[in-house]
Amino acid sequence: MKIVMLGAPGAGKGTQARMISEKFGIPQISTGDIFRANIRDNTELGQRAKSYMDQGLLVPDQVTCDLVVDRISKDDCAEGYILDGFPRTIPQAEALTKALEKTGSRIDFAIDVEVPDDHIVERMSGRRACPQCGETFHILYRKPVKDGICDHCGNELILRDDDHPDTVQKRLDVYHSQTQPLIEYYREQGVLHSIDGTREMDTVFADICAVLE
Ligand code: AMP
Repeated sequence: MKIVMLGAPGAGKGTQARMISEKFGIPQISTGDIFRANIRDNTELGQRAKSYMDQGLLVPDQVTCDLVVDRISKDDCAEGYILDGFPRTIPQAEALTKALEKTGSRIDFAIDVEVPDDHIVERMSGRRACPQCGETFHILYRKPVKDGICDHCGNELILRDDDHPDTVQKRLDVYHSQTQPLIEYYREQGVLHSIDGTREMDTVFADICAVLE
């Protein structure tokens, strides 16, 4: 089962992707997480990605596509995977389609988690992330057990550079101009499913499961 998660930054697709990954036993591949891990490890890829990410811009397609095509060729992806944050542009989607065609496969489901912009801005300004494991919380909607501390690794939570309000607005602009056209792309492929992402996390998840099962 090969799944693409679509939706604006902050729509909750990362959370849903994690839940799908746990339920169906297939890996969640988040390009944002891969870039952030590389920034933490100060790799060449991380240094390159950071300059774009901090401005709310997309990392160039070639870099991102090579990374994903390599990742999905790994053994743990044999039964499928969930792509979370990729593709984000039409050229990325076309590169993915081409890479899959070579192995005689295709994306089975594109799940679009729909949330209006004003909800997104409110959600993201309250989001707090663990700089160690990347897990995200929310000061109102997904509180950690202990205020300001990651439930998993005990690190102090931070407001990510790219979650600052100005950067969020920039990311939304980038989403509308470059990523939203993917909705039509996957609709034309007959695999698009739109889900109302404004509701409770578990309700959204139940809807997604109904599509996948
Ligand atoms: P995310 O955590 O998915 O919101 O990603 C955070 C940032 O990583 C984005 O704002 C981009 O700068 C970069 N990024 C993640 N995925 C991609 C992608 N598929 N293409 C280009 N840039 C990406």
